[in-house]
Amino acid sequence: MADCLFCKIIAREIPAEIIAEGDDYLAFKDIHPQAPVHFLVIPKLHIQSLAHVADPETLLATMGAIVEVAREQGLDENGYRVVNNVGKYGGQTVNHIHFHVLSGRRLTWPPG
Ligand code: AMP
Ligand code: ZN
Repeated sequence: MADCLFCKIIAREIPAEIIAEGDDYLAFKDIHPQAPVHFLVIPKLHIQSLAHVADPETLLATMGAIVEVAREQGLDENGYRVVNNVGKYGGQTVNHIHFHVLSGRRLTWPPG
């Protein structure tokens, strides 16, 4: 999508620290990390948010990528958190669906 920040990262029009890529997904470091490990996993297909997913099957590759990249990054032993923010109340600021993967320290619960 022309005016989408994350589509521009996929197209390499905006730089990002890419840590993994597949046919259907991209994983890159969050520019404002909230934990020692904080990266985003996105489908290459532009979908605005989880609330805009017509067919959940389209996210299967993204889900698989989260598991795979987290394993590659050595996060399995101590664990990690996967976060998806939806819309205004969910705190979503970029309107291309993305899953935060956070780790490197014990995370607090509940979120604010
Ligand atoms: P959310 O608030 O769930 O929509 O998350 C958007 C995330 O994208 C935030 O954690 C931002 O720090 C991150 N972000 C924004 N711009 C960039 C960028 N150019 N490269 C990497 N991460 C970004
Ligand atoms: Zn997009």
